[in-house]
Amino acid sequence: MTSTEGAPFSLELGDDLREVQGWVHEFARDVIRPAAQEWDEREETPWPLIQEASKIGLYSLDFFATQWLEPTGLGIPVAFEELFWGDAGIALSIVGTGLAAASIAAVGTPEQTGEWVPQMFGTPDDVKLGAFCASEPDAGSDVGAIRTRAVYEEASDEWVLNGRKTWATNGGIADVHVVVASVHPELGSRGQASFIVPPNTPGLKQGQKFRKHGIRASHTAEVILDDVRLPGSLIVGGKERFDERIARVREGKSAKAQAALKTFETTRPSVGAMALGVARAAYDYALEYAREREQFGRKIGDFQAVAFKLADMKCQIDAARLMVWRAAWMARNGKEFTSAEGSMAKLMASEAAVRCTEEAIQILGGNGYTREYPVERMHRDSKIFTIFEGTSEIQRLVIGRSITGLPVR
Ligand SMILES: Cc1cc2nc3c(=O)[nH]c(=O)nc-3n(C[C@H](O)[C@H](O)[C@H](O)COP(=O)(O)OP(=O)(O)OC[C@H]3O[C@@H](n4cnc5c(N)ncnc54)[C@H](O)[C@@H]3O)c2cc1C
Repeated sequence: MTSTEGAPFSLELGDDLREVQGWVHEFARDVIRPAAQEWDEREETPWPLIQEASKIGLYSLDFFATQWLEPTGLGIPVAFEELFWGDAGIALSIVGTGLAAASIAAVGTPEQTGEWVPQMFGTPDDVKLGAFCASEPDAGSDVGAIRTRAVYEEASDEWVLNGRKTWATNGGIADVHVVVASVHPELGSRGQASFIVPPNTPGLKQGQKFRKHGIRASHTAEVILDDVRLPGSLIVGGKERFDERIARVREGKSAKAQAALKTFETTRPSVGAMALGVARAAYDYALEYAREREQFGRKIGDFQAVAFKLADMKCQIDAARLMVWRAAWMARNGKEFTSAEGSMAKLMASEAAVRCTEEAIQILGGNGYTREYPVERMHRDSKIFTIFEGTSEIQRLVIGRSITGLPVR
């Protein structure tokens, strides 16, 4: 006989997490939601909203760090789901810096994290942004194909960066850019490193700003690097550590590819949580609508065809949330990802968001297809989650490799 007394398993959020959830939800409901349509149409960075978030401490290093370090791992998923429930474009403008900051905090030296991460956020009176620039025109899913070069000049102890980045969230308008470049091209992704480009560095400029299908309040642009000179110390993690790693790669001893995969597994659940927020927003709206709208003398929610859609949406959202929470908990608690559980969570949540937002349009009928109602925006917004941070195909590839142990192509 087994006893369940003292069983550690629980899906109930603790008091601190519920407090964070409620606080972020209030901001999403009262500040983000009412502004969503305006900023979607303006297709501009919603600076006043970022500033509002900064004033209450939501857009701050302190908030992000506290949630990343929250012991259950659910701090970020819970906060992101609420923010993106408010509006995905504005929410991405608020959390984009957090993702760039994480790229330094994860592998940077304590000095680099201490100096540059606070500068990415600025202050409530003078908010700043951070950007993470990996993708290039010919290197999207295939990050090993990155052509941006970083060359070390021994005499001046400087790195010189040249190349063209694309799709960078906050690219060109950020104060601090983190740029992935190839130092040893013959080693592919194992010869790459990230570099911190400080504010106003000559040679870095914004290229084309993209006009997008969705998340239009979030700024996405090319970043051009033309003889950008950086002090030798601005290679993320430090030059000594990088040189040691390269030496190990050359001796055939490096496990770096494994390490990078692990990092993705730990960050992907947070992208899943973003998608979840959008899915839930569309579901909530469609549910209310189905309870009110009448046709043939009855509520449309009374038609099985509509109620079944809502049932499927609810199931998909709850299933995706359980996967996001599982992966986030595993990441925080150092559990081994034996089946690419981080990728599984991102895949399920992003595809659920696309399906749920589409069904929400169907439930609203003609109204759902107009800009008078928010579900068409949510549908446009949802699609990004199957593309960035690894497309759905790439997630399936990672999961497929992980479960079969074969080099699935
Ligand atoms: C709005 C937005 C914001 C972004 N923000 C950032 C950012 O801040 N920083 C950053 O560095 N990048 C960012 N990205 C880039 C994003 O990560 C890439 O778009 C994504 O990785 C896909 O790369 P790609 O667009 O070049 O598509 P491709 O890699 O060209 O893929 C095209 C199609 O081919 C499929 N495909 C490719 N390879 C395979 C394969 N091996 N097996 C099966 N199918 C495959 C893909 O799944 C996809 O369907 C952003 C993109 C967008 C649209």
